[in-house]
Amino acid sequence: MNYFPAFFDLRDRPALIVGGGEAAARRLRLLRKAGARVTVVAPRVGNEIAAALAEGAVALRQRGFVSGDVNGQTAVFAATGLDGVDSRVAEAARTAGVPVNVADRAELSSFIVPAIVERDPVVIGISTGGAAPVLASRVREAIERLLPARLGGLADFADSFRSAVKATVPNAASRLRFWDRFFDGPVADQVLTGNERAARERMLTLVNNRAANEPPRGSVAIVGAGPGDPDLLTLRALRLIQRADVVIYDKLVGPGVLDLVRRDAERIHVGKSRGHHSKGQDEINALVAEEALGGKRVVRLKGGDPFIFGRGGEELAYLRERGIPVEVVPGITAALGCAAVTGLPLTHRDHAQAVTLATGQGKDGEPDLDWAALARLNQTLVIYMGVGAAGRIATRLIAHGLDAATPVAVIENGTLPNQKAAYGRLSGLGWLVRQSGIAGPALIVIGRVAALADAALPALEPARLRAVAV
Ligand code: SAH
Repeated sequence: MNYFPAFFDLRDRPALIVGGGEAAARRLRLLRKAGARVTVVAPRVGNEIAAALAEGAVALRQRGFVSGDVNGQTAVFAATGLDGVDSRVAEAARTAGVPVNVADRAELSSFIVPAIVERDPVVIGISTGGAAPVLASRVREAIERLLPARLGGLADFADSFRSAVKATVPNAASRLRFWDRFFDGPVADQVLTGNERAARERMLTLVNNRAANEPPRGSVAIVGAGPGDPDLLTLRALRLIQRADVVIYDKLVGPGVLDLVRRDAERIHVGKSRGHHSKGQDEINALVAEEALGGKRVVRLKGGDPFIFGRGGEELAYLRERGIPVEVVPGITAALGCAAVTGLPLTHRDHAQAVTLATGQGKDGEPDLDWAALARLNQTLVIYMGVGAAGRIATRLIAHGLDAATPVAVIENGTLPNQKAAYGRLSGLGWLVRQSGIAGPALIVIGRVAALADAALPALEPARLRAVAV
């Protein structure tokens, strides 16, 4: 280890910055957060430092640096970018025995400033000992992604209950267990999702009931896994997947997403494929509830978004009725994923003023849709679960007035390596699906925007299309 890691207490203590530009402003930002009394020495200062001056947040000595400036300082930061000046500052500080940091010049510094991840009051410092600053910022990004945005709020929350917990759980070992469970449990989850009021109420109950001795309580997260590409998961989905004890997933969840599940977590496949239900919805509901009531952290993982043709609403209601803590994490729905990978904008100022997501499958086969409304111009119609009935859907829309020449796109396995897309006109939709061998999971996009997709050109060039549509 080349450097000793430490955190300085600079609150209400004098600190000196030499320099008035960008690098100096960056130091100033940090020093203000740490509550230091900052003096800047510089003949000229940039906008940010000038603004701080106007607020009265710093003192300025508007001139060049003189050695005496370092006297009485707790720490000195040189950030002029001028070799001669920075070296003089470093030398003066060392002579006076004041810790000094020179921006980007580790060899002149007695301490270096790490890259930081901030979740105040949690602060993580990262250093490669000056060897590879770019690597340090990569590490920072990785940690940044890993830690929930409200982690600092969680620390403050725990802090506000510290003395109460100490009073009700006097035994140190039990207290440790209490906090361990707390950080893994549903109350902490509530704080992390921003539901602090409910968390506070529940925490009071926990503390008053001496929860350290109670069995752990399970919870469920109904999580959207996106259209298949694991890079399209939300950060919260990733975090929950990696912490889950049990993951109960559907057929549409991509294999790349499942690879992210903790290795020792249990995985239960409850996939449904068309015409073949491996588990009925009632069975799935019961299974999810049973796992949670057994104290497990359950992730109910669904393709796309749980609330778009995902029965997320039914599962949520079922769990709520039973008093099981449950949260919903959105995912990128297939329409958005497929649109992005084919370069097909779902709305467009010239072509589509609205988007409708519809299902091509009703409870008894035929969907109960208002075809006349769907046939209205200036909108994009995205049909889920529709490839089996593609021809029928086209016939109905045309019968209700939609132009038979309206462009269409059919996208199968969008965002996955085996993705496939076919383009044509509404009148030929049934034929297009058959001819391209698309069997699903696939989406049908109907509307003028379908001609804007990357591969739709030149078969359906937009210029001709506009003429057709007018
Ligand atoms: N909750 C999911 C939809 C579930 S319904 C979501 O928000 O995306 C299942 C239908 O979604 C499939 O029949 C298909 O029409 C569509 N679908 C899901 N993933 C898809 C993908 N990767 N590519 C194309 N269509 C997809």
